[in-house]
Amino acid sequence: MAAQEQDSLEKISAEVRGCPLCKLARTRKNAVPGEGQLAARIMFVGEAPGRSEDEKGRPFVGAAGRILDDLLEKAGIERSQAFITNVVKCRPPNNRVPEDGEAAACRPYLDRQIALIKPKVICILGRTAYSSLLGGSSITPNRGKIVEKDGQKYFMTFHPAAAIYNKSLLSALEADLKKLAKEIKEKSKSSMEDYL
Ligand code: URA
Ligand code: SF4
Repeated sequence: MAAQEQDSLEKISAEVRGCPLCKLARTRKNAVPGEGQLAARIMFVGEAPGRSEDEKGRPFVGAAGRILDDLLEKAGIERSQAFITNVVKCRPPNNRVPEDGEAAACRPYLDRQIALIKPKVICILGRTAYSSLLGGSSITPNRGKIVEKDGQKYFMTFHPAAAIYNKSLLSALEADLKKLAKEIKEKSKSSMEDYL
């Protein structure tokens, strides 16, 4: 990116849709840059697009997306208040976990999205995002917690897809997203920038 050019979410999306930077470019139908407003307070980061997302070019629109939508509704978070994306923007074949090299190649897009949106909190969905963003390895002992790194707040919870196979995770996810919603609301009440 030339230094004098202003970055934008649209520009990032266009680059992602034509991106040749890792081998997932060869097997994808559609890259999935992510969606949401520039003014989003919360950013959700999942693993990678699945089959439905690859078909539609949109994040979380399959079975995991239905769970996420339901969780957001129960927590009183509008999809439009959030920016939803993934660590890796193209579907790995058979939904395998993205390789480290793929996540590394894709990372600058996520970093640019974060730099533009400046979310109050980034909600990490599952282990792949946890590992990529914070170098963590296990969500279970850290779920529902907020940590701060380099001035950015992160909130950790399970990946919604995990609740498809393990229903007991659903109530944990529900409790976590309610906690996250409360956190955001309290923060916006006390934050001066909302009055300036
Ligand atoms: N799983 C993810 O991690 N991301 C999606 O967009 C869909 C399913
Ligand atoms: Fe490019 Fe990321 Fe898609 Fe790889 S996964 S081709 S780095 S957009």
